[in-house]
Amino acid sequence: MPRRKTHKQRSALITLPGHSLLINDKEDNNLQNKILELLSTITGTTVGSTLPDKFEPAFHPNHRSFFHSSVFGLIVIRFGLDALQNLKQYRDMRKVSGIEQVSLQELLNIFLVGVSVAYLDHLIVDGFTPNGLPLFQ
Ligand SMILES: [Zn+2]
Repeated sequence: MPRRKTHKQRSALITLPGHSLLINDKEDNNLQNKILELLSTITGTTVGSTLPDKFEPAFHPNHRSFFHSSVFGLIVIRFGLDALQNLKQYRDMRKVSGIEQVSLQELLNIFLVGVSVAYLDHLIVDGFTPNGLPLFQ
């Protein structure tokens, strides 16, 4: 059973490539925006990496239920894709309005994308253990 430390280490490993791939706006050269967006990603992946075990603490080997299930993983994927789409819409609206400063809505959606990616990574790691993941619960 992977420990919290393992999940946090993995979230640290996936944060920068994930941020670069999904979040980073290559057209935006504002350093303050870059820092705020990276901090949102780091906060999101840190929270998301341990969230499944907050919902279903590892008190015994068969603790994995609905929030560790493949079905919930699909819900998280949908949630993350919605947050990513919302981020792009808020970003486009800001640029059309001529506002340079990243908005709170963008930062919130970046946080939610980070939570989703790290949550899924947690499920993938748990899925490769002998107990695997339940389908529904
Ligand atoms: Zn777990």
